[in-house]
Amino acid sequence: MSTAVCLQNVEKSYNKVPVVKGLSFTIQPGEMFGLLGPNGAGKSTTIRMLTTLTKPTGGKIEIGGYDVRRQAIQVKQCIGVVLQQVSVDNDLTVWENMEFHGRLHHIPNSERQRRIERWLEYVELSDRKESLVKTLSGGMKRRLQIARALLHQPQILFLDEPTVGLDPQTRRRLWEIIRDLNRQGMTMLLTTHYMDEVEYLCDRIGIMDSGKLIELGTLEEFRKKHGEGLVMKQIGDRWEYKFFPNITAANAYLEQQPDKTGLMVRPSNLEDIFVELTGRQLD
Ligand code: ADP
Repeated sequence: MSTAVCLQNVEKSYNKVPVVKGLSFTIQPGEMFGLLGPNGAGKSTTIRMLTTLTKPTGGKIEIGGYDVRRQAIQVKQCIGVVLQQVSVDNDLTVWENMEFHGRLHHIPNSERQRRIERWLEYVELSDRKESLVKTLSGGMKRRLQIARALLHQPQILFLDEPTVGLDPQTRRRLWEIIRDLNRQGMTMLLTTHYMDEVEYLCDRIGIMDSGKLIELGTLEEFRKKHGEGLVMKQIGDRWEYKFFPNITAANAYLEQQPDKTGLMVRPSNLEDIFVELTGRQLD
């Protein structure tokens, strides 16, 4: 597999209203790629197009070298998908949910049992395999979704807002699972509106706003481009930001100011760059 994910000028409109506009980027095998943006930016729509759940209005998408329009079956075989809405069946047990998915993918019986055991153990749900899914916590359901998505041994895993609505401890646990899978070689694309999530997990970040990709690269590249040093100035109850190439330059600026009241120097972070690019803060 030369490129894991390739988007060329991808467009999506709903009722003639464009919600994804001219999106182009590639993800290399083994990469952990984060699509960051505010609610309504078009992240879920993008992930739905990448996973064959909705058709692009224009452009070209290849997953594992397969075209999502013409080779949807091959695409589905090489991807695992964890969607935002918890899609596991509440009235089935943990094991039955896994079993059902395994059968859909025609995994032979003994191999299926072995893999279900393996992945339930991996996400620490072995002791809950007979439990009805409706009795699980939100974090457990998310872990079950991940275990299920891994059952048919995909090469690429898509995670749409994997930790939304989870408590901090559960988020950390999921981060560890996601990181570990990536270390084992899994290519991953996750969408999120949490800055700390992309900072912690992702090799490369695409920032989306109003359906467009407005920045693409590593956090280090973003910081180099926009400035690694920051001077913050408090004006009433809000802060004004001024970027500098580095901390030394930011400090030199501070030194020149006759009145240093309300001024602060610090290294820039992803949130500063996001606000600089979009003029907005994420919730
Ligand atoms: P995000 O995941 O970044 O929050 P979405 O992809 O869910 O953004 O939504 C992008 C835009 O597309 C929003 O304005 C949303 O209302 C609209 N949208 C998403 N799905 C549909 C749909 N099925 N029909 C009509 N509009 C939709």
